[in-house]
Amino acid sequence: MSPHHSHARSSLPIAGEDHARLTIDLSALADNWRAMARRSGAARTAAVLKADGYGIGLEHAGRTFHHAGARDFFVATPAEGATLRAVLPDARIYVLSGMWAGSERLFFEFDLVPVIVSEEQLVVFMAAVSDGRDHPCVLHVDTGMNRLGLRVEDALALANDAARPASFSPIMLLSHLACADEPAHPLNRQQLQRFRSVVEAFDDIDASLANSAGIFLGEDYHFTLTRPGIALYGGSAVNGVENPMKPVVTAEARILQVREAKAGESVSYGATPLARDSRIAIAAIGYADGYMRTLGAGVPLRAAGIPGASGVLHGRTVPLIGRVTMDLTHFDVTDLPPGSVRAGDFIELFGRAMPIQDVARAAGTVDYELLTSLGNRYERRYEAVKK
Ligand SMILES: *Cc1c(COP(=O)(O)O)cnc(C)c1O
Repeated sequence: MSPHHSHARSSLPIAGEDHARLTIDLSALADNWRAMARRSGAARTAAVLKADGYGIGLEHAGRTFHHAGARDFFVATPAEGATLRAVLPDARIYVLSGMWAGSERLFFEFDLVPVIVSEEQLVVFMAAVSDGRDHPCVLHVDTGMNRLGLRVEDALALANDAARPASFSPIMLLSHLACADEPAHPLNRQQLQRFRSVVEAFDDIDASLANSAGIFLGEDYHFTLTRPGIALYGGSAVNGVENPMKPVVTAEARILQVREAKAGESVSYGATPLARDSRIAIAAIGYADGYMRTLGAGVPLRAAGIPGASGVLHGRTVPLIGRVTMDLTHFDVTDLPPGSVRAGDFIELFGRAMPIQDVARAAGTVDYELLTSLGNRYERRYEAVKK
């Protein structure tokens, strides 16, 4: 059992007892993968599962994508790869951080494909296979992010190096786009051209460039294999357009208390003043649950004109007021009918009713960070794929 099944451990809360819950819609997850596979056209479509499947649970996400048809999976670390291997015996699992000295054993034992990110890693990999072992690798080429990967000129030199060890034959070239979420950004086409020049220099090799946003840039960017992540989990890949993906994660917190307060009184740390007589719902959620402090008032973002977050209670949008604390957050429910909100009710923080990207924006961040910061205090409920 994964540690996320809190109900599996009898001393801990069972379903219905917890302060907050995540509902993870595996049908929507599978539908989102199929949608990205359709958009990938002739290219194969992988699934990116790093950071515990963007916070929703590596094993559940891996099984769901495999069931939908995915056979290629990307994780960040060899440890994530080893965990995923136990769930998906026949998948191809690529490790984006590559192979460093001391990690070789994990790649062989769990049949993981390292994505080589530097000349140093190339040396480590060549040494690891110097006994004649036949193990695949992918070569990462940096085309404009200055993050990981060989520089284009070094990759070209390697491709044309007659002395290149015959045993070094990457099965695929990979690069990553820096600005795919801004379709008009000129770096997109520059990266595409640089990547093409390397792909052409290596004869007849698979290639992968597009993350979620890159898939939306069109066929030129698809190459052999696409690598969607955030879109699969319902996040918005492209800035400024309506998000076409289905919401996957719904986060809710229990209301612990509803209280009345007078205009002129204040709420939470730092004493945010109340402009009117107010009814306030105290929700059992806080920054320790990844409900970030920047979502609340009294922070510089508000001064910059970015409004705070809202939740949804009984179908109505209610604004967060005052500062988010470690375990508790205030919501203004004054405009809801008196008596309609009770202790024990659940407020939606994001998900089906409240778009996750809107909540992320209120915190000055992106849905990626919100999802991967959720922490382990939620009761997690997985809704099975509908047959
Ligand atoms: C995280 C990551 C992806 C997935 O990106 P999304 O924007 O989540 O679709 C693809 N490729 C690489 C190299 C990554 O690090």
